[in-house]
Amino acid sequence: MKNSSVEIHLRAQKVIPGGVNSPVRAGKAVGRSVPVIASGKGCYVTDVDGNQYIDFVGSWGPLILGHAHKQVVEAVQKTVKSGLSFGLPTERELELAEMIVSMVPSIEMVRLVNSGTEATMSAVRLARAFTGRNKILICAGGYHGNMDALLASSGSGMATLSIPSTPGIPPSVVEDTIVVPYNNIEAVKRAYAEHKGQIAAHVIEPVAGNMGVVPPQERYLSALRELSRKEGTLLIFDEVMTGFRVALGGAQQRYGVQPDLTTLGKIVGGGMPVGAYGGRAEIMSRIAPSGDVYQAGTLSGNPLATAAGIATLSLLKTPKLYDDLEEKSSTFAEGIAAAAKEARLPMTCNRVGSMMTFFFTDTPVTDFESAKTSNTALFGAFWRLMYKEGILLPPSQFEAVFVSTAHTLPVLQRVVRIAEDIFAKLAETPESQLNELGKETN
Ligand SMILES: *Cc1c(COP(=O)(O)O)cnc(C)c1O
Repeated sequence: MKNSSVEIHLRAQKVIPGGVNSPVRAGKAVGRSVPVIASGKGCYVTDVDGNQYIDFVGSWGPLILGHAHKQVVEAVQKTVKSGLSFGLPTERELELAEMIVSMVPSIEMVRLVNSGTEATMSAVRLARAFTGRNKILICAGGYHGNMDALLASSGSGMATLSIPSTPGIPPSVVEDTIVVPYNNIEAVKRAYAEHKGQIAAHVIEPVAGNMGVVPPQERYLSALRELSRKEGTLLIFDEVMTGFRVALGGAQQRYGVQPDLTTLGKIVGGGMPVGAYGGRAEIMSRIAPSGDVYQAGTLSGNPLATAAGIATLSLLKTPKLYDDLEEKSSTFAEGIAAAAKEARLPMTCNRVGSMMTFFFTDTPVTDFESAKTSNTALFGAFWRLMYKEGILLPPSQFEAVFVSTAHTLPVLQRVVRIAEDIFAKLAETPESQLNELGKETN
């Protein structure tokens, strides 16, 4: 049988490290390579061999409207004819900035960049300049892009590949990074006490998404807000994943807590490379050229990227869109959790809106430590068997499963029925044989 995915993987490994341009895509954590994609439409992707999958990767978050949404594609097509980049101001950038300011509660001014990494990196620089302090507080298992100073105890790909830290980062760069467990207010209080008057910013995913989905406990975010205000530390919500995902105005709207600065990415670009950081005008106006903090980008505010972003955000204003997404996502998550329970498999299902993780553990998952109690061999076997049935989940236990507006209830219910059968099979497989299950290539 023809298997172009495998051929392409082998060729790619010669010229691209690991054959991929971002580590988790390699599928190492699930013990097999993921398909090479040729196209996507709605909730489906098709690989280079013509196999179709129901996709829950959603490009790792941006595709809340599904693949190749007609209006988003048309907006890009219309824009492409009048030039790809100018490096000079365009009205479209302003339009996207105004939309962001009107939608995200705490943002008064915003700067567009090209990725979530860039957004967080720039927000951290700004916070250090604004406060005149150096230290940054983050959570274990959080992920804020691959910026040196924030790659300590990271989630996402580093959690997936069990890499606690990465070489290439001088100790002096992380010397100002303080790591505390997520959902632990006492640890934050201790950090503030220990580093009094020295912490520039507390950077946090308001809903953790990169150790798998972990919701903030009751009053956690509001307590962080109070503590940081008292300390003169800026609270930065990294909403690269949660922005426009858990509500139109992001987690800050859903939980009613306003940070000083917010970073955005993923959905804000509708599938194109866009990031943004914004917040109170008093802070943001410190950015050059209105202020003294330098931050720049040749392709920032790119015409195609902003066109896709504007089209996506406009569509997200559709009345009841988030209610529908919530309802579908909850039916789906409950269906999967019930199926696992029926098969007597350990499972903790964490969900906020249309982002969720099915952790193979009976321990409630409230932070990185508890996330790591998951049985990753069981997850790997689950992933492979789902894949064989044409269902593409993110190839890691520590990532979020995304439901889009293009996933219909019948499709989601079909996935639950398939999962029921797979769970039954997993339940009768001895632990020692899990790693072999579904291993053969196609
Ligand atoms: C994805 C992500 C980033 C990094 O964004 P990139 O566009 O991949 O650089 C940063 N923070 C969070 C919370 C993310 O989920």
